[in-house]
Amino acid sequence: MTYEIYLDMDGVCVDFMGATIDAHGFDSGTMLNKWQQEHPGSLFPESLFGMSAETFFTHERLGEAEFWRDLAAYPWFESMFDALSRQGHVVFLTAPTDQPGCVAGKHQWLKDTFGSGFTDFIFTRHKDRLAHGNAILVDDLYRNIESFSHRDGHGVLFPQTWNDHHAHLEDASGFVVQQIEHITGGHR
Ligand SMILES: [Mg+2]
Repeated sequence: MTYEIYLDMDGVCVDFMGATIDAHGFDSGTMLNKWQQEHPGSLFPESLFGMSAETFFTHERLGEAEFWRDLAAYPWFESMFDALSRQGHVVFLTAPTDQPGCVAGKHQWLKDTFGSGFTDFIFTRHKDRLAHGNAILVDDLYRNIESFSHRDGHGVLFPQTWNDHHAHLEDASGFVVQQIEHITGGHR
């Protein structure tokens, strides 16, 4: 039995939040630190940024393919990807925004990282429709984990400042690998 491991990109593999904070003219390191200290687990602390989540997540830069193509991989990305690849078949599962540039840029990021023949990715906002008993979703948004679980998939909430696993942020990838071992029983 081979597990399908669906791996979210933004907030799990690449630093989408940091880049968006920078796009708004803030210093991402400072703001993410404040977020973690003053609003741990908050999905988006409007008081910290002085704007609504909608304003924040619709910055015009996010309509450009280059924004998505240039997103920095988190320091744990490579080793986590390798570890997960030993536990199952990893497929990137990432949601497009309303702007077509998002899909183009994410596609380019994957080609830049894995080469032009790479096809293990799915772009959809309907992640839950891929759920089944041998499927594991790794995602930083609780609502995605919840809907995936409701359709009999397994979910692992990736530790981030903006979710309930924020306390595990320092060893986020180790936490995820361990959670997946619980699900698979150590079998691939
Ligand atoms: Mg995400």
